[in-house]
Amino acid sequence: MILSITANPSVDISYNIENLKIDDVNRVDLVNKDAGGKGIHVSYVLNELGEKVINSGFVGGKLGEFIEKRLDERKISHDFIKLDDETRNCIAIIHDNKQTEILEKGPKIGLEKEKEFLDHLEKISKNIEIINISGSLPKGLDASFYQKIIKFAKENKIFVSLDTSGNTLKEIVKGEIKPDLIKPNETEIKDIIEKEFPENEEEIRKIFEKSPLKDIPYVIISQGKDGAIFKIKNKIYKAKVPKVKAINPVGSGDSTLAGALSAIYNKEDDEDFIKKSMTCGLLNVLNEEIAHININDFDKYKEKIEIKELI
Ligand code: ATP
Repeated sequence: MILSITANPSVDISYNIENLKIDDVNRVDLVNKDAGGKGIHVSYVLNELGEKVINSGFVGGKLGEFIEKRLDERKISHDFIKLDDETRNCIAIIHDNKQTEILEKGPKIGLEKEKEFLDHLEKISKNIEIINISGSLPKGLDASFYQKIIKFAKENKIFVSLDTSGNTLKEIVKGEIKPDLIKPNETEIKDIIEKEFPENEEEIRKIFEKSPLKDIPYVIISQGKDGAIFKIKNKIYKAKVPKVKAINPVGSGDSTLAGALSAIYNKEDDEDFIKKSMTCGLLNVLNEEIAHININDFDKYKEKIEIKELI
């Protein structure tokens, strides 16, 4: 079983407003509300791939209950730590071919709740083979929270992936105890290497040969419609995806990660690992819904993924 941790989940609300009027009233016909947060999105796609997955993290109040209800409706397991404060809303306004987002920070987590989670982690990890940690940290917690989860996974021989950004990502990747897999996009990799990710093969190799990326067995640098660069142990590959008409690319990174974790779970070889990750990312852009793939199209697109091993 795979455990997916979202420390700061949200109720994601999207409003479709053709012409957004500032300093005026906007009425909305098309509203969509769903349980969100990156780890939860990963669990949606893992579930669609047929993997058994359980969600954890922190939820609170009526919005927390809404998240649990949406997971129940999808028949996805969950076991969250409960907070007195309300889970956050995240609002995306789709207007004039643009997307404007309003993201609440969410509840603050105190040290007691952190400890409660870490004790809980021990209990819920009995049959867990992979732990995935996705998304930003809530108020009150710092990178050491994720480091404690990674340490726990390592001590218990559980594969652990991390998908976060900014200083949290940088601090953990450069720290002593590293995750087994990271999936930075082009912005997030800059946080780690402190420059643009190069295009030249020789320079790419140099980056992977040096610490900190050298010490992480699986690194996926996703590059949107340009595919991704994969480091799998001591091999480096470039994967290209076919040109498609993108409907909604939000959640492609989470879908890619779900594909990668499913391949790890099923001990698939490098080629299938790369193709599964890329196909899931691509299938996500083909529909409006975030972190949803049409599994019936999987084989059709999988065979169109091109892989080249770099020098
Ligand atoms: P998010 O933060 O929204 O989850 P991300 O920035 O982490 O996304 P991307 O690098 O944009 O992730 O995309 C991940 C993968 O999804 C890509 O490597 C690719 O396989 C697929 N993908 C994304 N956008 C497109 C696109 N326009 N066309 C085809 N495939 C795409």
